[in-house]
This record gives sequence, structure tokens and C-alpha cells, in this order.
Amino acid sequence: MTTLALEYFRSAPRFVGARTIGSKAPGLIAGPLAPLRLVNLKDPEPPSGHDGWARVKPLLAGICGSDLSTLAGKSSFYFSPLVSVPFVPGHEVVGELLDDCGDLATGTRVVMSSVLSCASRGEDPMCPNCAAGHTNRCDRVAVGDLKPGLQTGYCSQTGGGWSRLMVAHRSQLHAVPEGMSDEVAVVLEPFACAIHAAQRARIEAGDTVLVVGAGTVGILTLIAIKLFTQAGHVIVAAKHTKQRAAAKMAGADEVVRPEHAAKSVRRYTSAVKLTPERGPDFLLGGADVVVECTGSKSALDMALRTTKAAGRIVVSGIPGPGADLTPMWFRELELVGAYTAGVEETPAGPRHAFELAIELATNLGPILGRMVGATYPLDRWRDAIDHAMSAGRLGTFKVAFAPQE
Ligand SMILES: [Zn+2]
Repeated sequence: MTTLALEYFRSAPRFVGARTIGSKAPGLIAGPLAPLRLVNLKDPEPPSGHDGWARVKPLLAGICGSDLSTLAGKSSFYFSPLVSVPFVPGHEVVGELLDDCGDLATGTRVVMSSVLSCASRGEDPMCPNCAAGHTNRCDRVAVGDLKPGLQTGYCSQTGGGWSRLMVAHRSQLHAVPEGMSDEVAVVLEPFACAIHAAQRARIEAGDTVLVVGAGTVGILTLIAIKLFTQAGHVIVAAKHTKQRAAAKMAGADEVVRPEHAAKSVRRYTSAVKLTPERGPDFLLGGADVVVECTGSKSALDMALRTTKAAGRIVVSGIPGPGADLTPMWFRELELVGAYTAGVEETPAGPRHAFELAIELATNLGPILGRMVGATYPLDRWRDAIDHAMSAGRLGTFKVAFAPQE
């Protein structure tokens, strides 16, 4: 049996080609040089003799910033041993189970925690991180019963959300409550990641916080910060008008354009602003915590230049190369990564970020449901990728595939 799927088939010349055009001409990424194609693939097969795997029919699958940077050839070669090509992208998935999967019956709607950790690979004993519930830090994502792949959507064996059929392991799956729309459910994965980022920020009561970026990740992170911390003044820096409006609605105390962020932080924290001979202004003093949600070099530079001495920066987007780390040294900054989600510490004890996301989404439905601004069938993938590349400018938050259409 075969399934219709978008396949990422990196070949060196196309990959290098995408790298050179990637940053200059977003429209070209979905053009003839794209390392993506629509094909009929043999149905994905889980490892044999290994329990807990089931087929999933993707109903909606989001396009994430990390997918776009992979397509644009902008991801670091660091990832190359952590993926297996060709693969079907798509790790933000709401789908329907086509097989019974442990306690989940055929037909259950599920969302997926994307990491292909020890449990899915038959690793026994688990690595110390998985044993502690931090599956996002799994040390075994390139070994075991399954081909390498840090997540579903980067593994040649599991398929991915940008297709009509994939396989997933029980350890990845969470049931979607009845009555929750697919549009809300497909945002649960990025929302769980945002909850994790808010935990990693270790914000204390009254802290001044700057969130850089107000796309899907920035807005969801802002919501998580408001829900899970007692941050004092939260400033959001956002490029586009609709992003600034959304940040205001989601509870930001102050919303500014990126070029005014340093000035706002300075005003609010009584920091001293200095102007170097070249490059952006920086502060002595500044925000207690800055959360970088875009993955761009300029945003990480802004974070480094607006955080107070001994303050903390949470790197939530895949960091673009080339940021100037001088302030990290001089200001003794703490740089903290936030990668997907796992078990989080809460006042009520440890909880999986996905469970928290599902619970909260029941009330936040009206906000989360509006984040999906457009859906596309698989055969319109070039339009979908183009739309996602320009989402900020077009006022769209999440673009998703509707693979069964
Ligand atoms: Zn592990």
C-alpha cells in the first residue's frame, strides 16, 4: 500500500542551492530548487517486534519555523547525524488512530509529542534523561530499533504529518478531548513547547521580561508566561502590525517594534543605553529575562544586548549563526535552551507539558483556534510553504496542511 506524502529528499547541490537563495528570496524556497516533492510512498512501517506503535491518519499538520529553516537549507549541519533522509516533515500533528494503541482505541483523535525517545526505540534501560521524564533531552535519538531522527518529521521510518499516513508510538501520543476542534488541537504541540520555555525561563515575581518575536511561538510563549509565572512587566517586540495587536490581546504590558525594544527596556528598568561604533545599541542594566522566539541572529543579538547583568536568555527558536556573544561574557549572562517539551515541575507536582497544554486549551480555545490562519491540501504545498514563509507580513500565525483533502 502507498500513501501520498511530501518528501524531503536532500541532495547536496539542491541543499547548497537552497542555502544560497534561502535568506534572500523566500518565494524561491517553494520553487524548482525546493528539496521537497509530492510522491506516493510505501506505507511507513514501525520497527518489527516492538509494541506500542500504531498508524495515524493526519487531519491537520502545522508548518513550523524549524521546517522552514530546513527547507531553506539554513539549519546547521549539526543536525545531519540526527536525521535520516529522505523523510516526511510534519511534527505538529492532530490525527486519528487507525489501530488500537495500548489504552487508546482505534478512531481516537490524538496529538503527538514529537521526540522519538528511548521508549519508541526499545531502549532498555532508558537513558537518564528519559528515565527522569525529560524525553526532550533523550540521548538515544540516533540509535536503537528505529532509524535516526530527533523527532517524527525528521525520521525516514515513521513518516510525518505532511502525509496521509504515518506511524507513532504510544509514548508520543495524547488523546484530544471531545469537542476540541482540530484547529485548536494542532496548536497543542507548539503550546506545550511554549509552556516548557516559560518553565525554563525561571521568572521570579515582579521580573521584567522581554519576549522577542510575536509569531506563533512568541504569542504562545507570552500566554504561558502570563499563566505560569508572576512576571512583572512583560514587553513584547514584534515586527508586524497584526503580531503587535495579538501580543496586546494576549496580555503583554507593552508592545513595541523591534527597533524600539532597547529603548523601552531602558525606560522601564532605568538602564544605561550605550551606542557602539558599529552595531545595535546595548544596555547596562536591562530585563531580568529575555525570551528569544524567532531564531534570527538580530533577535538573539537584541536579547544579548537588553538583558541585565547575571540575567537569563531563553533561546526558544533554533538560533541563527553569527550572534555576538561579547555581552554574554561581559554581563555574565545565562543562556538557556528550550527544546520541545517534557515533564515540567508545577506547584501541583510534575506534569507533562502536553497534559497542561490540553487542560488549558479547553479554556483558551477561542484564542488558540484563531492561530490557524490557513490550511492547504498536500498538492498545494508550494502555496502553503510560500504562505508560511511570509506569514508574519501577511498577518497569519499558523499555516497547516489538511492532508486528507
Ligand atoms: Zn532517552
